[in-house]
Amino acid sequence: MSEPSTYDPRTTGLGPDNALAPGPGGTALAARAAELDRADPLAAVRDRFTMDDTVYLDGNSLGALPTGVLPRLSEVVTREWGELRIRSWEESGWWTAPERIGDRIAPLIGAAPGQVVVGDSTSVNVFKALVAAVRMAPHGRDEILVDAATFPTDGYIAQSAARLTGRTVRAVAAAEIAAEAGARTAVALVNHVDYRTGRLHDLRGVTAALHRAGALAVWDLCHSAGALPVSLDADEVDLAVGCTYKYLNGGPGAPAYLYVRRELQPGFDSPLPGWNSHADPFGMAPGYEPADGAARGRIGTPEILSLLALDAALDVWDGVAVSEVRVKSLGLTDFFLDCVAALAPAGSVEVVTPVAHAARGSQVSLSCAGAAEVMRELTARGVVGDFRRPDVLRFGFTPLYTRYADALRAATVLAAVLEGTA
Ligand SMILES: *Cc1c(COP(=O)(O)O)cnc(C)c1O
Repeated sequence: MSEPSTYDPRTTGLGPDNALAPGPGGTALAARAAELDRADPLAAVRDRFTMDDTVYLDGNSLGALPTGVLPRLSEVVTREWGELRIRSWEESGWWTAPERIGDRIAPLIGAAPGQVVVGDSTSVNVFKALVAAVRMAPHGRDEILVDAATFPTDGYIAQSAARLTGRTVRAVAAAEIAAEAGARTAVALVNHVDYRTGRLHDLRGVTAALHRAGALAVWDLCHSAGALPVSLDADEVDLAVGCTYKYLNGGPGAPAYLYVRRELQPGFDSPLPGWNSHADPFGMAPGYEPADGAARGRIGTPEILSLLALDAALDVWDGVAVSEVRVKSLGLTDFFLDCVAALAPAGSVEVVTPVAHAARGSQVSLSCAGAAEVMRELTARGVVGDFRRPDVLRFGFTPLYTRYADALRAATVLAAVLEGTA
C-alpha cells in the first residue's frame, strides 16, 4: 500500500479522526469510516466514558471508565460511608446491592429478575456453579466436561471441583461438547466466546444437547455479556457466570455475577454457604438454612465500593439495546478486517477469529511473527490491544465507545508497524 509506514500519530500531531493513511486505499477507507461513524446510532454513547486520543481496543480485558463512576463513588465514600457509616447497610441499600445490581445486569444476559447475584470473582463463581451443578446432576454421573480451550482459571477450578466431588474432568473442544455429552456427564462448563480466538459458541444448541444427555450447562459469559445478545432464560441455561470489568466497564477487580435459573434455585446447594446466603443472616443461628432466590449464591460481606462503582457504570446502558450493540460490533470488526486486508503487507498477518458472523464475538485476533513486539510498538503509538502467547494480537471492539475511525487508525498503525518489522 502507499504510505502507511510513514504514519506516526505522535509525530504528526493529528487527531484520531483525521490522522489517516493518505494513500488511495486509506482515503477511501477514511471516507467509509466517516460515513459509518455519522450513521452510527450509538455514536453519542462514547460521551458517557472518559476517553482520550488513544485507540483503546482492550475493553475486553478492562472496560473504559464511565464518567458517572467517580462522582457516585465520591458520594458513596463521603456521605454513605463517611457520614452514615453502619446505617448505610440499611439506609443506603448496601445489604441488598448484590441482588439489586444483579437485576440490572439481568436484561443484558436475557434473564428475568431474581436470578442474578453480584459478588466475588468469576473464579469463585465458577466454583460455586460447578459444585452446585454436580450436586444437582442425576446420580452416578462421574464426569465434568470442560471446554478444552477455556480461559485457564475455569479449567483449574473445574479440576478442584472434580476432586472435591469425586468426579473427573474431561477436556473437549467446545464445538464437540454437544456430541460428547453422554450418560456419564454431570455438567459441562463452556466459554460462550473463546477469549483467545474470539470464536462465539452455540449457547442454545450446546445447552439443548446437554439437556438431552441429562446433564447441566454452566456458561462463562466473560467475553459475551455486554458485547452481544445472550438469552439465558430463553435458551434454558442452568447456571452462568461472568465478570463485570470487561464489556460491563465495572472497573478493575469489579465483582462478578452468578446466574441460577429460577427452577433450580431451590436445589442450589452452595459449596460456600456463607452467612450472607443464610435465610436469616442476623439470626446468627449455629445451623445453616439457605435463603430463597438469587441470594443463595452469596457468600460473605459484599465488596460495596466496587459494587457501587459497577452500579454507576451500568448507567451507560440506559436506552441502549444489546441488539444495536451487536450490529455495531459486527460492523466494527468487519470494517477492521477490511482495513487490515487493504493496508497490512500481504501475508504479514493471519486472521484467527472466525469471519462468519454467527461464530464471531466482539474481538479480532490476528497472529503474526513477533507478535509481542508488534503489540508493544502499537501501544507506544497509541493503539492499545493485547498480546496472548505465543503469537496472537487481540483487538477488542467495545461498541459503546469505539468508533469506525478508531478501527481504521488501528489498522493503519498496525500496517506501519508490520512494514517496519518485516
Ligand atoms: C476474564 C475471564 C475470567 C476472569 O476470572 P477472574 O476470577 O475475574 O480473574 C474468567 N473466565 C473467563 C472466560 C474470562 O474471560
